[in-house]
Amino acid sequence: MPEAAGRAAATQRLFFALWPDIELAAGLDAVATAAARRFGGRPTRRETLHLTLAFLGDIAISEVPALIDAGRHVVASPFELNIDRLGFWRHNRLLWAGCAPIAGLDRLIAQLQAALAAAGYPLAIRQHSFTPHLTLVRKLPASTPPGEVGGFPLGQLAAWPCSHFRLVESRLTASGSEYTPIAEFPLAA
Ligand code: ATP
Ligand code: MG
Repeated sequence: MPEAAGRAAATQRLFFALWPDIELAAGLDAVATAAARRFGGRPTRRETLHLTLAFLGDIAISEVPALIDAGRHVVASPFELNIDRLGFWRHNRLLWAGCAPIAGLDRLIAQLQAALAAAGYPLAIRQHSFTPHLTLVRKLPASTPPGEVGGFPLGQLAAWPCSHFRLVESRLTASGSEYTPIAEFPLAA
């Protein structure tokens, strides 16, 4: 149906995110695989591991340049993350990896939310209570004990120097969500 095809092509599902480098992604992949063996569920594919900064959802393609412009208006310094904890959320049955609160990351998220709000996307503001995380395993059993997930060994993960962030398109495929970078933005001291 040409009409439906036209509608589908008119929007993109978009989010801003940090992407780990190859070394950290390999370490996280090993943890995800081991945790899925231990608790059940589906590990995230290595190349799709990411930390979402702001989720936009379906956006008209005609609006993408305004979002890229918003990303360019973000002024935030580089920072380093140390992924040192695992958690389990029962409501969406996700096992995730995270870090201690970091001022640099908080500032980046706040700057991005402000730039998005100024560009007319105040929805992102509602995510202020969102916990920054990387999803490692999906669809765990709801009965998974959060305490055991928290105690699962993470090993020695590489530090994560964050010097840029991305605007990414998400598409649902047979093998899960596929992410395509649309633009990359540097963090400058
Ligand atoms: P899947 O939906 O197949 O499990 P996914 O959640 O990674 O994969 P999307 O739903 O496209 O893929 O979401 C892209 C990113 O945005 C993910 O990191 C997801 O956690 C995050 N996200 C999705 N919806 C929201 C939301 N309402 N608020 C905050 N972040 C969201
Ligand atoms: Mg999702």
